[in-house]
Amino acid sequence: THFGYEKVAVNEKESRVREVFDSVADSYDVMNDLMSSGLHRYWKDYLLQISAVESMAKAVRRSISTDQTDNNPLLHILDVAGGTGDVAFRFIEAANCVERSKSSGKDPIRITVCDINAEMLQVGERRARAKFGNSLLDDSQALQFQQGNAQDLCDFADCSFDLYTIAFGLRNVTDVDKALSEAHRVLKPGGRFMCLEFSQVPNPVLRQIYDAYSFNAIPAMGEFIANDRHSYQYLVESIRMFSNQDELVLRMQQAGFQHVKYTNLTGGIVAIHEGWKD
Ligand code: SAM
Repeated sequence: THFGYEKVAVNEKESRVREVFDSVADSYDVMNDLMSSGLHRYWKDYLLQISAVESMAKAVRRSISTDQTDNNPLLHILDVAGGTGDVAFRFIEAANCVERSKSSGKDPIRITVCDINAEMLQVGERRARAKFGNSLLDDSQALQFQQGNAQDLCDFADCSFDLYTIAFGLRNVTDVDKALSEAHRVLKPGGRFMCLEFSQVPNPVLRQIYDAYSFNAIPAMGEFIANDRHSYQYLVESIRMFSNQDELVLRMQQAGFQHVKYTNLTGGIVAIHEGWKD
């Protein structure tokens, strides 16, 4: 592609997932808003809020302004399955990177959006240029897009990130445990893992309403708006097959994470799981 993303080797299920996101890439953002009635924005905002990136970036900025050497501390963030950049853009805004890139000041954060799908990354890069201007991507290194597989983050060194985020991505990965141990590997000691993902609704009444909505309305909307019922059917099914809150806690602990906890949002339709590397 003219964006220069290299193809990575993938197995069969991965290429199926890739096909799904290839076919939805262009309509992805509109569909997100429609299917969740805009709730995904609130869920992502909440992730940003509890990530405390804003206050961490402030602390880093303070140290940058007093440090004249080039060895400035940066908050390194890896947003895996980052798709069209929604989570990364929130971090960029919170850390005030755009103004810094205009005044050629040092960036307090560096965030890499990693996704298996080149089409999603291309949409993301186009959106980033439209939203933040070219200088953020061309002159500063605050925001980068890189194709890669959550299960094998071979382009990233051990202990290289302060924060790993994955939003609505983990359930698409073939081998979730492998992805979790890769997340653990690339985090620095003390680094934090955050996963925003659909989960299981514990309340039976709410669950019935939610099931009726997702099994009927979402594939229908997919057909009507994106002319692609199957991809959206797949998305709904993948939500039901994925681990519930407690199962994911266990899997994170098995991957080596400490102090693992989760927060339910919107009655458990989604949950944010967090864990730390010792
Ligand atoms: N994080 C973004 C958001 O919240 O808007 C995108 C979420 S989208 C539902 C899921 C993304 O996961 C897609 O962009 C897809 O290409 C990506 N994905 C699926 N399997 C992956 C894998 N094994 N490694 C990396 N990304 C993957």
